[in-house]
Amino acid sequence: MEVQKYVEQIQKELVTKDPNQEEFLQAVDEFLPTIIPFLEEHPEYVEKNILGILIEPERLFQFRVPWQDDSGNWQVNRGYRVQFNSAIGPYKGGLRFHPSVNLSILKFLGFEQIFKNSLTGLPIGGGKGGSDFDPKGKSDSEIMRFCQSFMTELSKHIGPNLDVPAGDIGVGGREIGFLFGQYKRLREYDAGVLTGKPLGFNGSLGRTEATGYGTVYFVKHLLEDRKDSFEGKKVLVSGSGNVAIYAIEKAQELGATAITCSDSNGYIYDKEGIDLALLKDIKEVRRARLTEYAKERSSAEYHEGSVWELEQVADIALPCATQNEIDQNKAEILVNNGVKIVAEGANMPSTKEAIHLYHEKGVLYGSGKAANAGGVAVSALEMSQNSQRLSWTKEEVDGKLDEIMKNIYETCRDTAEKYAEKDNFAAGANIAGFEKVAAAMLAQGL
Ligand code: GLU
Repeated sequence: MEVQKYVEQIQKELVTKDPNQEEFLQAVDEFLPTIIPFLEEHPEYVEKNILGILIEPERLFQFRVPWQDDSGNWQVNRGYRVQFNSAIGPYKGGLRFHPSVNLSILKFLGFEQIFKNSLTGLPIGGGKGGSDFDPKGKSDSEIMRFCQSFMTELSKHIGPNLDVPAGDIGVGGREIGFLFGQYKRLREYDAGVLTGKPLGFNGSLGRTEATGYGTVYFVKHLLEDRKDSFEGKKVLVSGSGNVAIYAIEKAQELGATAITCSDSNGYIYDKEGIDLALLKDIKEVRRARLTEYAKERSSAEYHEGSVWELEQVADIALPCATQNEIDQNKAEILVNNGVKIVAEGANMPSTKEAIHLYHEKGVLYGSGKAANAGGVAVSALEMSQNSQRLSWTKEEVDGKLDEIMKNIYETCRDTAEKYAEKDNFAAGANIAGFEKVAAAMLAQGL
């Protein structure tokens, strides 16, 4: 069958099967057309209907998570785990706790995770999970009780050689600690069952920083390839979680000035560059809102709304908040601001129309699958350390992360040149990620 028709048929069938899974359909629609040139040279994947099989998760769970709040009320949330693809390793991917979480969002994230994980070059399959639980405003005890209840069910479905969850939005070291404690109570002490663990019990040095640092390393290698560097560049960053904080840290370390960060209500524009010590104190210690930042720093302004509406000259944009934060209008503002590179610390922060505009205007675009793979890559390094019962130094982990991101950048670049067009790193990421997974699926048989 003609490849184009095959791909269109798959897309059509998916819309019929999952008409309401908007984000999942969006992720699949971004992916499929980009791999057509590869499939044309590899008809065996079309003959064996690898795409049709690939877009169906191997398994998914939905469960209830009952928990008691501090006033003694009985509450209930939905928990999920999507075990998407295990062709190249145990399912691997984060847990997201956020009110927006539903099956569509977790399937999109799980789908992206397959190719992202493949790109790291490490033996990890793709998965994702989470809950519509909102951690905002909850006490430590409420978070603990929720995590314990969540793990009471999840523990039946995970294991170091089966499925290894980690953090994502709303799930950091504190939550991983509570989840790990409950797993241990129910099963046994098995360090390799979760990653992103606190350092005191088998976590990896450098894991907290890894996603943000990795995004900056991806851009660093792209710039070096053009005999350029971060030195003197102005960087726009969204988000103020783990990914954003450490992207800002590394970009500033390399000589750039990050002038923005944001949360779900508004954003900070700091013309002197973000004061990282203050930002860390507000977000990591006080767990407070960004409005505090502007109160304590005279060079900063707080504005309500999206950071991507800010009109300020800049060179690089690092969206590190959440999906679909940049639509066509916001991408136009970025282009008008003079931004030449967009690299995604978040998963799918740019809509299809925004991506189209980047390519049309010659903005170099590193999609999340490539640019934010550093987090899961260091998770895989944490798994290696856990099975060795050793811990590596921060320098060793960071050196490996830099090397992995260099390799990812070069793979995207070279694969794009071979199959798509020069500098279409997103197509390069999709094809290279797919190539390894599809070959494994074919070799393992139905
Ligand atoms: N949630 C992160 C991601 O989107 C990390 C997953 C992991 O470390 O397993 O890739």
